[in-house]
Amino acid sequence: AKAEGKDTFRYFEASMGAEARDRRIMEQDLRQAVARDEFRLVYQPQKEISSGRMVGFEALIRWRHPERGDVPPSVFIPVAEDSGSIAQIGEWVLTTACKEAASWRNPLTIAVNVSAVQLHNPDFSRKVHEVLLRTGLAAGRLELEITETALIKDMPRALATLRQIKALGVRVAMDDFGTGYSSLSNLRAFPFDKIKIDGSFIKSVDRNGQVATIVRAVLGLGRGLGLPVLAEGVETLDELRFLDAEDCDIGQGYYLGRPGPIEAFGELTGVPAAD
Ligand code: C2E
Ligand code: CA
Ligand code: CA
Ligand code: CA
Repeated sequence: AKAEGKDTFRYFEASMGAEARDRRIMEQDLRQAVARDEFRLVYQPQKEISSGRMVGFEALIRWRHPERGDVPPSVFIPVAEDSGSIAQIGEWVLTTACKEAASWRNPLTIAVNVSAVQLHNPDFSRKVHEVLLRTGLAAGRLELEITETALIKDMPRALATLRQIKALGVRVAMDDFGTGYSSLSNLRAFPFDKIKIDGSFIKSVDRNGQVATIVRAVLGLGRGLGLPVLAEGVETLDELRFLDAEDCDIGQGYYLGRPGPIEAFGELTGVPAAD
């Protein structure tokens, strides 16, 4: 039994080694992925709930690795954040999203996710300004999605950056609302323009009284503060009906539209399908 324990430990050690090695390889691959043109953006519709009208898109990054195939952002974004390559990747996302959106025939909003590392770079607002000038996108069409966890590393720094971004005319949305440590004090401390309720609160909102109470409270909070509320992860008609009845402003989720290449939305954007 003793020997077995030892072997188990060795195996565990070996697999830890393999995991660390795997991570180092991914870090290296990520450093080259922009230059190798392995990223692309997909876009997910955001719709006004009362009318069903399209108001904008969230840009979501996709990585096709030449050997691993599609690697989800939930796997590679944290690695890119730890290893520093998120700065380059984030700049690629922002530039690409703004460039594409500037060419659309309708002036829809483009929402772009920003990571903690980007937000804490003292040059970030200057970069945003430069990208707007370079791509010709009107500042009022850009919305940056920021999670609470991205704010807490250095709150004074994050606050200064948010104010600079807003001075450009760019809006900021609080992403994944309700999942952080102190959503309410963060809502008060930072000048957000929109609340995005996390999808975990929308799942079964039509059937779960406790969840419904929480969502109603967030909608009341938005109304009181004068902030529009977007519900993420709307997957069913019943969830949408609940949100409509409770006067939620905007919805996003598989029921309203899955993320897809921009060509899939050609009617709105005027971007022709590639042949
Ligand atoms: P997020 O910002 O909360 O993005 C929403 C995620 O929910 C997306 O996953 C989207 O595809 C998914 N989703 C949309 N509708 C539904 C639905 O009805 N049901 C369910 N179950 N899921 C839905 P995705 O694209 O895999 O992205 C995951 C996370 O990766 C994002 O969460 C965001 O934190 C991060 N991410 C994605 N793109 C970027 C990016 O360009 N930059 C940065 N920094 N992070 C990104
Ligand atoms: Ca987001
Ligand atoms: Ca979210
Ligand atoms: Ca659901």
